[in-house]
Amino acid sequence: MANDGRVSHTQLFVGPEGSGNLALAIAFAQYVNCLKPGIADSCGTCTSCIKFEKLIHPDLHFTIPTISPYKQTRELAQDWREAFIANPYLSNFDWLNTIENGANKQGNITSEECRDILHRLALTAYEAKFKTQIIWQPEHLKTEGNILLKLLEEPPYGTLIILVANHTEKVLPTILSRAQTIKIPKLKDTDIEKAMVDLHACNAQKATDISRLADGDYNMAISLVTVDHDGYFERYRDWMRSCFSGKVDELQKWVDEISGTGREYIKNFISYTSQMTRAAFLYRYGDQKLLRINDKELKFLEKFTAFIHSGNLSEITRSLDDAIIFTERNANLKIMFLNLSLYIGRQLKSGNQTS
Ligand SMILES: [Zn+2]
Repeated sequence: MANDGRVSHTQLFVGPEGSGNLALAIAFAQYVNCLKPGIADSCGTCTSCIKFEKLIHPDLHFTIPTISPYKQTRELAQDWREAFIANPYLSNFDWLNTIENGANKQGNITSEECRDILHRLALTAYEAKFKTQIIWQPEHLKTEGNILLKLLEEPPYGTLIILVANHTEKVLPTILSRAQTIKIPKLKDTDIEKAMVDLHACNAQKATDISRLADGDYNMAISLVTVDHDGYFERYRDWMRSCFSGKVDELQKWVDEISGTGREYIKNFISYTSQMTRAAFLYRYGDQKLLRINDKELKFLEKFTAFIHSGNLSEITRSLDDAIIFTERNANLKIMFLNLSLYIGRQLKSGNQTS
């Protein structure tokens, strides 16, 4: 697009969490503004590139979710630079966690910020070929997003606006229709594996395990490097057995143990449980070659598969997805896990009605 001189003025980079869509948007803006660009990448050494890499170029503007009392991105500009440079794959959750009192808040893009965008893009560029505005998480724009419609449709000459989203279905249709959508795929397991070995000093087995759990989410892969996930399987196996048996003292002990680990660990563990549940279903109904599990997991699933069927698969995985959200929002973990365990227990004992 850049080499053909056909850079569309309003673009939407949409990709799943951890796909690097934000990092790619910034790299793209850096490339089109590079003073000595190569065929496929910016030079990385010109004055423009150096300012882009530090996120201090005067023509590079960000709009990101903020929380009260902050109303505009510029109030948090320094925090934002530090957070992004430390981890270009960061999630909305990670970002809000870095703001004081931001943990477990939702984040918002305010009408004040929208007016600020109009104001700064109305001014001429200082030095860049493309004055660039990146709007991260436009999912947070509700009716105030309408302030931007005219701008998105017809930005001033030499302006590049890139919206960076995870979920297009949560973006206002009036915004969607004004942007050219670029789909960013999730990362390949082999790429994550390589990065774990090259950049995070993992051995081959650990890199494979992590890439399988992360399922294309590089941000999750990084968090798994520091989390001891070797105990996941045993914890999962014990949980499913206790859920099924319904023995309250056993369940209570298990719940107490997991509730004492960290929220990051818990999110990853629930995500692992969700993958194992799907694997148990696939074991019986799908192509076993597609299962990404190791030998001890396979041995457990041989028996466990009898309890997962089309009548309870989506019920269980949905309750697990909800539990991840509750964990992020600071729910009482013991109550959450006890309720979840009882629910899963009932689901496991429900006969298959549909096939
Ligand atoms: Zn350059």
